[in-house]
Amino acid sequence: MQDSVAVKVAQHDSPAGALLAWYAGERRHLPWRAPPGEGQDAYKVWLSEIMLQQTTVKAVLPRYAMFLRRWPDVKALACAELDEVLAAWAGLGYYARARNLHECARVVVAQHGGTFPATEAQLRQLPGVGGYTAAAIAAIAFGQRATPVDGNIERVVARLFAVATPLPEAKADIKTLAQSLTPEMHAGDFAQSLMDLGALICTPRRPACGLCPVRSDCRAYAQGLAEVLPYREEKAERPVRRGIAFVALRSDGTILLRQRPLRGLLGGMLETPSSPWTEAKPAAKSLREYAPVDADWRKVPGLVEHTFTHFQLELTVYRAEVGLQTELGRAAEPERCRWLKLRDLAGAALPSVMRKVIGHALQAKPAGRASAARVAGVPPRADRRSA
Ligand code: SF4
Repeated sequence: MQDSVAVKVAQHDSPAGALLAWYAGERRHLPWRAPPGEGQDAYKVWLSEIMLQQTTVKAVLPRYAMFLRRWPDVKALACAELDEVLAAWAGLGYYARARNLHECARVVVAQHGGTFPATEAQLRQLPGVGGYTAAAIAAIAFGQRATPVDGNIERVVARLFAVATPLPEAKADIKTLAQSLTPEMHAGDFAQSLMDLGALICTPRRPACGLCPVRSDCRAYAQGLAEVLPYREEKAERPVRRGIAFVALRSDGTILLRQRPLRGLLGGMLETPSSPWTEAKPAAKSLREYAPVDADWRKVPGLVEHTFTHFQLELTVYRAEVGLQTELGRAAEPERCRWLKLRDLAGAALPSVMRKVIGHALQAKPAGRASAARVAGVPPRADRRSA
């Protein structure tokens, strides 16, 4: 099949023909891909494309294999509990994707009989499936003439046409240009050839133009602009948000965790009980107001920092050893709390930032009594300053 694709496309005197011929021989061999010229199972395309958003191929490979082993088709995934899916997703970030993945599987089963719809328009109706993913599934799984444009493709097309408008303003133009290149046949292989060209040759820095199959068509190469395009508007600096995270430990080897609300950032994931994350420094009263239990809270030296897409987070961590019979205060929101064995944390739906918080609390020696505070009463003056 690969040879027949190469022979067919060798007759094309176009960037698409050159790219398809190159893809037949030089593509990345990835487990969610079918050989050139063959359609791929829509479930595999969808799963891999959702995982690959904002995540590297290297990070996705083991997780994709694990998901497929555990949930080999969309019906199996639809039967899973959301908690299981979130736990399996933990560490990949952008957890709304995991919630939507689960919801989408249920919709495909309930409304489409367990078969993904084949058109871009229908695919876009599914939870968590945006324009890019719909086009990728339509082209790769169903062989339709659709044009997904991800970051790699955006860069390649901006260079091929020497687009001078900076990103993100140029996005619509780049999409139109990419569509103009898309062939009637083999649109899925063509899209994947652009993805691979961007990943392997037309890289963000120092593109290997000498190896490029479309060099003779490339305006950026001709104009000596390959390394500087695409232009980008300067990004605004991320604001900093701050909060307090409370790590409560019991002598039976458990830690107090709370489920975050289902909607919103890290929705449905577990966290150590925490104060809200705000741009203002945590007020002195935060320690008393948000501590989940009445205990001898000790500040762990240092901060936990984590970068989200739209802000930088700085968490001050407090730790306390509490008794087995300790009652949770109202601030803990007890109905969403549970005590979890520390040894079971590896398989829990804990986002990376909370793994950092717990690691920080467990590894660092708690500070001395000067920074301890009993949250039932007014914190000592020193703590009010530091909190
Ligand atoms: Fe990218 Fe260079 Fe190929 Fe142009 S010639 S598409 S800049 S690798």
